[in-house]
Amino acid sequence: MWQEIDRVLISREEIAARLEDLAGTIASELAGGELLVIGVLKGAVIFLADLVRKLPFPVEIDFLAVSSYGKSSVSSGVVRITKDLDYDITGRRVLLVEDIVDTGLTLNYLLGHLKSRQPQLLKVCVLLDKPERRKVPVQVDYVGFTIPDEFVVGYGLDYAGRYRNLPDICVLKREVYQAPRA
Ligand code: 5GP
Ligand code: MG
Ligand code: MG
Repeated sequence: MWQEIDRVLISREEIAARLEDLAGTIASELAGGELLVIGVLKGAVIFLADLVRKLPFPVEIDFLAVSSYGKSSVSSGVVRITKDLDYDITGRRVLLVEDIVDTGLTLNYLLGHLKSRQPQLLKVCVLLDKPERRKVPVQVDYVGFTIPDEFVVGYGLDYAGRYRNLPDICVLKREVYQAPRA
């Protein structure tokens, strides 16, 4: 069924257990005021959906979309907003939810963009962090898992648009994203 998958890196059970803790931390630190949770399309959709249902108070949800790697698994460093927020975040308390921070270029750009609108509070939650690959330092307040430098798919993360619906976080077979040798 998932023939291009090499192995499971983080299982659905491990994700669910970690989300309980993460949501508990976020709930205790961000309770006591209205909260707008912003997801970065499309990779953060599954994570955000699970996370917000573990928060014990009402939140609002909005999304923005950025241009991504396309079919390549290597960052171009070029970031472009392809769908902006519906809400005005000025003076609001905001939690930005992203799938993964890799080089940091995407998050760095997004945070600049959001801060220019002067939210009252801006916190950042990422499902996955690959610190080895960082090119720019970037604010991250909550991390689901720190992972090694491997290209992962599943639980919202894609390769060429596919695998977002895979329930576990997995490593693809290398031959899938590397050209075969001549
Ligand atoms: P950065 O700008 O930090 O290099 O990359 C951020 C974006 O690159 C993520 O939001 C994600 O879309 C993509 N990305 C980085 N690493 C991976 C990975 O291991 N797997 C997948 N599917 N996407 C990744
Ligand atoms: Mg992303
Ligand atoms: Mg992608």
